[in-house]
Amino acid sequence: MKQKDPKLGDMPAEDFRRYGYEIVDWIANYFEHIDEFPVLSQVQPGWLKDSQPKSPPESGEDFGDVLKDMDRLILPAVTHWNHPNFHGLFSTSTSSVGVFGEMFAAAFDMKAMLWRTSPASTELEDVVLDWLRQMMNLPDEFEGIIYDTASVSTMHAIAAARDRANLKIRELGMSGRDDLPLLRVYCSEHVHSSIDKAVITLGLGTRSLRKIAVNERFEMIPEALADAIDEDVENGFVPICVVPTIGTTSSTSVDPVDAIADICEKHGIWLHVDAAYAGSAAIVPELQHYFKGCERADSIVTNPHKWLFTPFDLSVLYCRDLDELKRAFSLVPEYLKTSDESTVKNGMDYGIQLGRRFRALKLWFVMRYFGREGLIDRIREHCRLANLFASWVEASPNFEMLAPVPFALVCFRACPSDVDDLDALNERIMNDINASGEAYLSHTKLNGKFTLRLSVGSIRVEEKHLMKVWELLNQAVT
Ligand SMILES: *Cc1c(COP(=O)(O)O)cnc(C)c1O
Repeated sequence: MKQKDPKLGDMPAEDFRRYGYEIVDWIANYFEHIDEFPVLSQVQPGWLKDSQPKSPPESGEDFGDVLKDMDRLILPAVTHWNHPNFHGLFSTSTSSVGVFGEMFAAAFDMKAMLWRTSPASTELEDVVLDWLRQMMNLPDEFEGIIYDTASVSTMHAIAAARDRANLKIRELGMSGRDDLPLLRVYCSEHVHSSIDKAVITLGLGTRSLRKIAVNERFEMIPEALADAIDEDVENGFVPICVVPTIGTTSSTSVDPVDAIADICEKHGIWLHVDAAYAGSAAIVPELQHYFKGCERADSIVTNPHKWLFTPFDLSVLYCRDLDELKRAFSLVPEYLKTSDESTVKNGMDYGIQLGRRFRALKLWFVMRYFGREGLIDRIREHCRLANLFASWVEASPNFEMLAPVPFALVCFRACPSDVDDLDALNERIMNDINASGEAYLSHTKLNGKFTLRLSVGSIRVEEKHLMKVWELLNQAVT
């Protein structure tokens, strides 16, 4: 159907209102019935693409027709991250108020580059990040900035670390110079690939990334780090940054940040803590001991879009001295100079982006709606459920645990006594469960063993959802 009355300008307000109500109803139904969908989309690659015309629509369509395609074409091709049985990777989900935050942010369509182009976004960002800092028990001097993802947060932190080395890289770059020593960044063998990508992007190269051995609990060995740094310094290399992880992607192991901070302090090396996943758990008093040493870091990244019920994307980089980040990135062209520069914060000074989305709003909604207590209760419950699941694994003769459970990820495998090739068995079990659409699990390799990962983090997850997975797993081994 053609659009009824194509005029210039936007959709008429009464149509916006009507479709808007319809969309909110649609989303409310979606959340209400989310566990009736297959967790993983069941379509084949290319299915959606093949459904679409090869050329763009010539004249405007009736928006009611467009909306019908949400059910017909989009929904089947959605993998439901909000599904309470999404246990793969890290289970992340949005709250309803988070969706409201995105609606308003899209409506304002602000670009937070300068304070004056977006006072609300600039100031609310400071407010929510200070609230979150207090909840995470980080010292007063830490100041944050919001980026899209942890990958980008970490890249900025390492860029600031590179700047601190005083090698004039900002002005002279790294190419065509024979006066530059090899710069080194250190992390554990279990580090997230975003650290590798950061050193690639920053021109340091993967050669600059030195991966340190871990102990039997998959935690970086501080003595091995100290030895590696001593050896590098002897060779004339320049250590610029150490990146311990609290909650590694593979097993959520916790590197000993306090001991690592001693080493960084001794050598004046930038300490950047990757707590992209587990950072949200720092708001829970009984879990704060895992974060010991973070108060000594130069920077720390946490992703409220992972485990704080805030829709993707929202990552926070806290810096002990945000001015170091500013020195690395601030560049004010004539057309962006304003008279209020010295008295206000301009978001564009703290990274490569000029315009920045109004992301703080959704986190403000989440924090105000749930409160600190409500957020703590939910994360605490996820940890309880993960430990409950782990207790079922431990009590079963057919399954075994393969890593400790500091937060809400369970690493385990099936190990029935009559099967020789356990890797093949566990891979088959995972693929069968995922193909069924009933639940989604992912895997990792720990000590060479194919390991099933069950992450508990959805705002909608309950004990019955874990019982369902446990049932599926037990059916698969018998
Ligand atoms: C998820 C994760 C990342 C990457 O997060 P993005 O926001 O998707 O870039 C980095 N580090 C750790 C430890 C993670 O769990």
